[in-house]
Amino acid sequence: MSEFNQWRIVCPHCGHTSTVRSSKQMGDTVRESTVTCDNPECMHSWVAQLVAVRTIAPSMNPKPGVYIPLSPRSQAAEQQAAAAQLELGMTHPPPRPG
Ligand SMILES: [Zn+2]
Repeated sequence: MSEFNQWRIVCPHCGHTSTVRSSKQMGDTVRESTVTCDNPECMHSWVAQLVAVRTIAPSMNPKPGVYIPLSPRSQAAEQQAAAAQLELGMTHPPPRPG
């Protein structure tokens, strides 16, 4: 059993499970794979790309020049964290109403 089978890519034509035949790195964020449909009545073969599209948790060892935008969820979490830090850094609490 190949490690590539973990991806469980399905055929875009018949929906059958498919097998990654080969795979090569096309850049820091793109990997291309040749995939073949396992259905003997289809046999479609195509090239699929695995692309890094969003960052969920930033790398603790970032590579210069590699930029993968934060997912909206992570951005919201970061803004909340920044806001919380601002509040903690305040020397005077905001005035209470009344
Ligand atoms: Zn197929």
